[in-house]
Amino acid sequence: MLTRLPVLTLLPANRSPANSETLTPARIQGRPLSNWLDSYLSGLPHIDGSPIHLEFLSGLTAHRGRLLTGEPERGKAVHAASFLRERRIVLEDTLIENPSLLRLLLTHEIFHFVWIRLSNGSRREFEQALHREHRARTTSELGESSAVARELLQAGDEAQRSLRWRSYVCESFCDTAAWAYGGLKCYRYFRLAPEWRKRRAAVLSNIRVSRA
Ligand SMILES: [Zn+2]
Repeated sequence: MLTRLPVLTLLPANRSPANSETLTPARIQGRPLSNWLDSYLSGLPHIDGSPIHLEFLSGLTAHRGRLLTGEPERGKAVHAASFLRERRIVLEDTLIENPSLLRLLLTHEIFHFVWIRLSNGSRREFEQALHREHRARTTSELGESSAVARELLQAGDEAQRSLRWRSYVCESFCDTAAWAYGGLKCYRYFRLAPEWRKRRAAVLSNIRVSRA
């Protein structure tokens, strides 16, 4: 298990950007949102840290590096985004109707905050696991984000540890954590072969952060 991660609190936001519709869900699966979040967090490895603000907005699209809401004709539809410096996660409001996917994607986003706290040694350890997979010519991943990032890799990216490669490693880490802790047994993007899944789970279980 991940240990010595600093207790993380998810605060549902009541505000919304001026140009978007506010939708703060009162209930998920018949329970008040805060209860649902407490129960969700209790299923994760112990994670401690400053609060992360959580917003549910409608019609999310990514356009030229910006997250838009309510402008479906601009950019590519996305389910979630994290703003690390602002400690804010934005989720598509339709996920409220799909708690399993919500749990999976929220876990992915939370682990973006974990990734930036990992020691260099832990990051390297995860990266080494990916090098081993690539040497073995695996072609699959454990989530959509890492599959997309992997598709974008070009010759030389891995050897040079380019920005594209490092971005792929980060997405792969977050997808692996979502696979391990997100509560879904089957998902169409869990395509990595079982032997490699086991290796990733082992790496994840060894990971430590540099500060609590
Ligand atoms: Zn991601």
